[in-house]
Formats: sequence, structure tokens, C-alpha cells
Amino acid sequence: MALSGIEIFKFLPKTNCKECGVPTCLAFAMSLAQGKAELTACPYVSDEAKEKLSVASAPPIRTVTIGAGDKAQKAGGETVLFRHEKTFFNAPGLAILITDAMDDAEVEARVSRADKLEYERVGLTLRGNLVALKAASGDASKFEALVNKVKGLTDLPIILITDDPAVMGAGAKACADRKPLLYGATAANADAMAGLAKELSCPLGVRGENIDDLAAVSQKLIDAGLKDLVIDSGARKMNTALTDHLAIRRLALQKQFKPFGFPTITFPCEMTDDPMMETMYASTFINKYGGYIVLSDFQDQNLFPLLLNRLNIYTDPQRPMATKQGIYEIGTPTEESPVLITTNFSLTYFIVSGEIETSRVPGYLMVLDTEGLSVMTAWAAGKFAADLIATFVKKSGITDKVKHTKLIIPGYAAGMSGELEEELPDWKIIIGPRDGSHIPAMLKEMSA
Ligand code: SF4
Repeated sequence: MALSGIEIFKFLPKTNCKECGVPTCLAFAMSLAQGKAELTACPYVSDEAKEKLSVASAPPIRTVTIGAGDKAQKAGGETVLFRHEKTFFNAPGLAILITDAMDDAEVEARVSRADKLEYERVGLTLRGNLVALKAASGDASKFEALVNKVKGLTDLPIILITDDPAVMGAGAKACADRKPLLYGATAANADAMAGLAKELSCPLGVRGENIDDLAAVSQKLIDAGLKDLVIDSGARKMNTALTDHLAIRRLALQKQFKPFGFPTITFPCEMTDDPMMETMYASTFINKYGGYIVLSDFQDQNLFPLLLNRLNIYTDPQRPMATKQGIYEIGTPTEESPVLITTNFSLTYFIVSGEIETSRVPGYLMVLDTEGLSVMTAWAAGKFAADLIATFVKKSGITDKVKHTKLIIPGYAAGMSGELEEELPDWKIIIGPRDGSHIPAMLKEMSA
């Protein structure tokens, strides 16, 4: 069970030496309790205290990583049932299914989609995360050949799927350096799969016949010394699978039920043949506690909405999404093109840039860092103030890009226009519309 800051404080040296980066041991204890600090930041914690604290302060759901390097995919580590209580930390990894029954062309096409399908959104690159390789043939050498082929085509993390320990062994040894997830251990093969996972230091997927069976197999593997498990209740009907996910998360967080203290893996690809239903199921598991989600395929029409949904659920609700400060070129602007300025609240940026694009009048959009606040809020908070805008305009290099000195400010910031003219005496300040949808008409009129 997670310890409170006061309980953690009892284990600290209480010298207030500040080496951990905070002024007192108590402050450090509080940060530790909130998951904002790592115990290793204090060099003076005794080994005995370290052991007690690391066990007690571990999140109730273990963080498990599949893969190695930059593309390694973490899941778990969650501490709340609802994102507004704090935030969710590790977005579920989306995997594309590839089997050893597919021909080479299909395998290559799927790997290519997994690697290449990506989308820019609010300054982020959204994409799928893993390849799930299934031994559909039951033939160890065929499975090994598939693993070797895919391993050579992509550096995405790998999930290996088979219940046969011999087949799993052949596939897992071919890519052990990539730390694949071995899925899956069941009541029938738990010992052999556990041995393989230990030997190769890989995370192990666990599947139950139902949620009770999952608890039993998971406990058995914990007792056998396995630490990195990814769990699956085995349900392939949507309502049961969702109910199981809710029960697993609640039992892990509220009852600290150790067999469920792991991220889940779920298979919308096995729940329906209808691609739209599959996407809806996957979306539900993004919302409700899926750790890794295996899809039958990646296509724009299913992957993009899922990635957007995931982005929405896994952003920190306490921090607005922000775009980077800078000058953004919309279309192919010239020295005569209009210059607009706005805040770096992502939604504002996308609305304004979208409207400029719609106008078909190329322009420069200057985005000031207002810590992600919208125009009205930033203005009220003094973060979209005349002096800050003036400093930004002067230092931004916009005068190297345009010959004119006309700056269009948002209509909601009209009240600062006089002050801004004083700060930027060489510039003509033009008040833009309050509603972004009126930007195209204004730009067209100005360029006529
Ligand atoms: Fe206390 Fe350790 Fe931080 Fe020093 S480094 S203030 S002893 S918690």
C-alpha cells in the first residue's frame, strides 16, 4: 500500500541537507508520496529503509516495458481510476497483428503500415507502437522465421503470441535482445513459460480462463519470482472484457490486490470481424484501462481516431496542451504576406492556423508562449501583454521575413492595441476578428 508523506519521512535521515534538490527531508517525502520524486535522489537513505520504501512506495500497478531503446513501450504505473483525479501516465500501446500464416507480401505491407502511418497533431507525432506476432501455424521454425523477418524490417517492440512453450522458445530466442512480451502463460503452461521469461529476462503475458483463473495464474507466477507481468482475463466478449478491466483496475488500486497489479493486454482483433466495431472496442479499452491493445490491422480510418482518443485521455488534465513558441508559415508566404499573432494554447493555434489555411491567403502566424493559455485567459493573466508581444516581435526575426510592419492581433485582445502601438512604434496594429471563422474574409479583403 502506498505510504503517506509523513510515513515516508520517518525513514529519511532528517538532516535537511538539500542534496535531493528540495529544502527539507519532509518536502522530499511529500514529493515522493506524490510520485514527483525518485527515492534515488537522496543518497543518504539506508539500505534497510530503501528496501522498505521501494516496496511501499511502488505504484499499485507495476510499470512494465516491452522492447528496448527509444521505441520501448511502457504500460501500467497508473495510480488513479479517473484521469481528473491526477492524470494517467502511460498511454496504451497499439499493436498490429501479424501471423506466420500470412505470406511475405502481407507481412511486409503490415510492417510498413506499422512503421509509416503517423500523424501530426498539436505539435506531436501520433503513431502505433508495436507488432504482435502470432504463431498461427504452431510450427516453431515458421514462427522463428517470421520473428527474424519482422525483426529485420522494423525496430518496433514485439509481442509474441503462442501458448506452446516450444514455439515460444524458438521465437523468443530469435528476438530476446528486443525484450519482447511473451504471451502467454496459462494455468497449463505457466511453469514452462515462466522459465522462458526468466531465462530471457522478458516480460510475460498471462491469460486466464476468466478473471478468477487469471488471479490464480498471476499469483502463481508472482510466487515463482516473476515481476513483469501483463495480464488478460481471457474475455473475448466486449461486455465481459470491459467488466473485467474495471474490476482489475479497482482491485489493484483500491484493494492493492497483487495478482492484478499489472498492466493488461486486450485483443479487440479477436472480438469481432467488423473493423468499425473493433475500432470502437479498442477505443473503449483506451478509455478504460487497456495497457496494450492488439488490432487486426492499422488503417488510417481506424488508427487515426484511436490515436486521437488516446491523446485526449492521456494528456494531463491540469496542463493545457501547448504549441511551441515561434513563427509558423501557413501556405507559402512572401514578404507581403499578413502577420498574425496568437497564444500557444494548442486549440487556439489550430483554429487560427486552420482559418488562415482556409482563406488561401498565405501568412505568418506568430505564436507567443503563454503557458498554454487561450487569448482571453492569457491576457487576463498578463501572459499575452503588450510588452511581452513587443519583445517577441522584436526578437522573433519576423522583420527578416516581411517588408511591411502590420501586425494582426486577436479581436479579444483589442484593449491592448494602444499599449502595443506604444511598445511597437514602427508597427501598425490591426485588430483581427474575435471569432476565428471571420479570419478568411478579413485576409481576403486585405489581400484584394
Ligand atoms: Fe533529506 Fe536526503 Fe534530501 Fe538530504 S538528500 S534533504 S537527507 S531527503
